[in-house]
Amino acid sequence: MNFCSACGGRVERKPTGCDGQIRYVCARCDSVHYDNPRVIVCCAVCLRDKVLMCRRAEEPGAGQWAVPAGYLEIGESLEQGAARETREETGLIVDPARLELCSVVNMTAIQQIAIMFRVILDSEPDLVPGPECSEVAFKSIYELSEPSFAWRATMGDGPERFHRELISGEFTIQLITIGAPDGSGFRSREYKVASIHETLLPLAQPQQ
Ligand SMILES: [Zn+2]
Repeated sequence: MNFCSACGGRVERKPTGCDGQIRYVCARCDSVHYDNPRVIVCCAVCLRDKVLMCRRAEEPGAGQWAVPAGYLEIGESLEQGAARETREETGLIVDPARLELCSVVNMTAIQQIAIMFRVILDSEPDLVPGPECSEVAFKSIYELSEPSFAWRATMGDGPERFHRELISGEFTIQLITIGAPDGSGFRSREYKVASIHETLLPLAQPQQ
């Protein structure tokens, strides 16, 4: 960031607020510009013990396989964003209401947070690779060599654990911290899912 979005003045990095955090501050109007992590939404679409993967046509990870993922847009729920990315990358329409939370991932080194969902299909769908993918297919993690699996080294035992859960039908939610690109610093905390309850309140009617 070079210029203030409020007045067009030049911004500088300086300590702000009671915590002294270094932020962009406008030299002309004193507006503080907060720089917060971005949210990535991911969707693991499962069919038996396989997961729908995309072969990435673009960097980063060009030529490697990854689940549909991308940045959450303003105005979207997490589930809507994950369903949109799935449709854009694979042509598959999934109902956001059917997505189950499976992991929350801290990626502080790259200022991102990833939220991953799971949805289980009971039959093989028609797929159409999107412009960012050269190929889409259901893959078992054991069919993918480590170099062909995008960011595999950073994922710890996550893929094996996910595969075990698909086979057993006993699911967890993982709170994960991704460390260095070589995989060091990976940490995962597991929460067993005993049951899933949903509450849906009707929207308030506007006052006449
Ligand atoms: Zn300004």
